[in-house]
Amino acid sequence: MGARPFIVAIDGPAGAGKSTAAKRLAARLGFALVDTGAIYRAVALAASRLGIAYDDDARLAALLPLLDVRFEPVPGAGQRVLLGGEDVSSAIRTPPASLGASAVSARPVVRAGLLELQRRLAAAPENRGAVLEGRDIGTVVFPDADLKFFLTAAPEVRARRRFEELQAKGDRATFEQVLADQLKRDRDDSSRTVAPLAAAGDAVRLDTSALGLDEVVERLGRAAEARLAERGRRA
Ligand code: C5P
Repeated sequence: MGARPFIVAIDGPAGAGKSTAAKRLAARLGFALVDTGAIYRAVALAASRLGIAYDDDARLAALLPLLDVRFEPVPGAGQRVLLGGEDVSSAIRTPPASLGASAVSARPVVRAGLLELQRRLAAAPENRGAVLEGRDIGTVVFPDADLKFFLTAAPEVRARRRFEELQAKGDRATFEQVLADQLKRDRDDSSRTVAPLAAAGDAVRLDTSALGLDEVVERLGRAAEARLAERGRRA
C-alpha cells in the first residue's frame, strides 16, 4: 500500500447507476464512500434555507467554510448525510434540490471551495481506500486516481430509473418532468465552463443501459481488485 488510500473515481451523468454501483463497490472493497453529489446538494439546501441565491458568489463563498457536511454509515443501508448534525438524506433528494445542486455546482467559487473537503473525506487516514462518485472526480478532484470509471446510459433509461426511485419514495413527479429536468441538468453539467461533466482520458467507460446492477458491480469490482493486487505487488 502506498501513502495515500487507493482511490476509485466513478463519474457520469445522473441516472447512469453511479450511486448504487459506488455504494456496493465500496462495501465489496471495504472502502469509504464519498458521494460528492450529496455535498453539492447540501450546499444548495443550506443556501435555499438561508435565502441565498444560487448565483450569489459572495454569500456562497461565506457559507462554505461554515458548512458541516458529514457522512454517517448506516449498517446494511449505505450512509446518511448530515448537515450541521441534521439528517438531510431525504431533503437533498427532491427534484428542486437536484436543480439547486446543479445550479450551485456551476459556480467556480463553490467548486473550488469544496475541493479540499472532497479530498479530505476520501484520504482520511483510517480509510484503506475510497470510492468517490461525481462528475469531475477523475478529471479534477483526483486526476491521479488509481482507477477511473465513466458510467453512461441512454437518456430515457436514466430518466426511467430516477422516475422509479422517486415514485418509490411517494414523489408525484411525472416521467416527462423527470426526463425534462434530467436533460436540463445534463446540458448544464456538460456545458459549464468549470469542470464540465467529461470522461477522463484514462477512464474505463461502461454503458449500463442494458446491464443489471449486479453485472455493473461485478465488472467494477473485478477491475478494482485486479488493480489493487497490481498495486500490492509493486509496493
Ligand atoms: O450525483 P447527483 O445527482 O447527486 O449530483 C447533483 C448535482 O451536483 C449534479 O447534477 C451536478 O450538477 C452536481 N455535481 C457536480 N460535481 C460532482 C457531483 C455533483 O457538479 N462531482
